[in-house]
Amino acid sequence: MTSILNADLHCHSVVSDGTLTPEALAERAKTNGVELWALTDHDEIGGQARAAAAAKACGMHYLHGVEISVTFLNKTVHIVGLGFDPENAALREGLEHTRGGRRVRAQEMSDGLARVGIRGAFEGALRYVGNPDLISRTHFARHLVETGVCKDTNEVFRKYLTEGKPGYVEHRWATLQDAVRWITQADGMAIVAHPARYKFTANEEFALFTEFKGHGGRGVEVVTGSHSAAEYVSYAAVAQEFGLAASRGSDFHSPDESHTELGTLPYLPGALTPVWELLSSRIQ
Ligand code: AMP
Ligand code: MN
Ligand code: MN
Ligand code: MN
Repeated sequence: MTSILNADLHCHSVVSDGTLTPEALAERAKTNGVELWALTDHDEIGGQARAAAAAKACGMHYLHGVEISVTFLNKTVHIVGLGFDPENAALREGLEHTRGGRRVRAQEMSDGLARVGIRGAFEGALRYVGNPDLISRTHFARHLVETGVCKDTNEVFRKYLTEGKPGYVEHRWATLQDAVRWITQADGMAIVAHPARYKFTANEEFALFTEFKGHGGRGVEVVTGSHSAAEYVSYAAVAQEFGLAASRGSDFHSPDESHTELGTLPYLPGALTPVWELLSSRIQ
């Protein structure tokens, strides 16, 4: 398979903070011409069997996927895993542990919002949660839009849910080393998700990719819904500099909120090695 492939290897279902079921996502991806698909819910692989079956039913190739939350240099970094064995016990335990603190964190977020006069946010956010193990900031954002506190989810994040804002809670996610190890030891490939989003300095970013490679990480998202066209070019250069394979994915969450639709991004630049070339034995 070449870089000219409509692969969408990053999106979210109701099993994490998306609004569509794995089946509806599969259908939508197929309609948009996706040839190779992966569902990558946050810290959770509970939707994998449904996604793989739905992909098969509509004639799309599939890779098992996940997006693991990591704390690196005091920032949250996301590591996508593709092509792993979803039955792997260490991976399953690692993800369970990573999900573990979300409920307490959500309660603390709600307390923070209550201090600025927004009451009942925990219960409100829960109404949008498809998986009780996975309350995310996105669910709070939906609740605050629905109740008219903000006009859209972007405004909620800007005013309430990011560092220094009333609903933000410091949280320790998995370590980079653990996340990469869980994925690779389950025969999958670890990939740095949307690197431009972290706003690291050049030195910090160098440390991220150096340590990531040192732990066995092998890929980086180059063409993602979170990158500008200029960032496709700069992270293509990073992929080459670090000898990483390149991935492509929309990060689609919802028809109402996502600015990037499934399967509609530009192809990967031809000079790069696509992750699917190295994962061919894992494709279903
Ligand atoms: P959490 O894992 O609970 O910290 O939630 C992180 C999720 O919030 C991300 O995966 C995105 O879906 C969403 N998110 C983060 N920043 C923003 C933003 N500025 N606007 C809208 N959604 C965001
Ligand atoms: Mn999300
Ligand atoms: Mn992410
Ligand atoms: Mn994502």
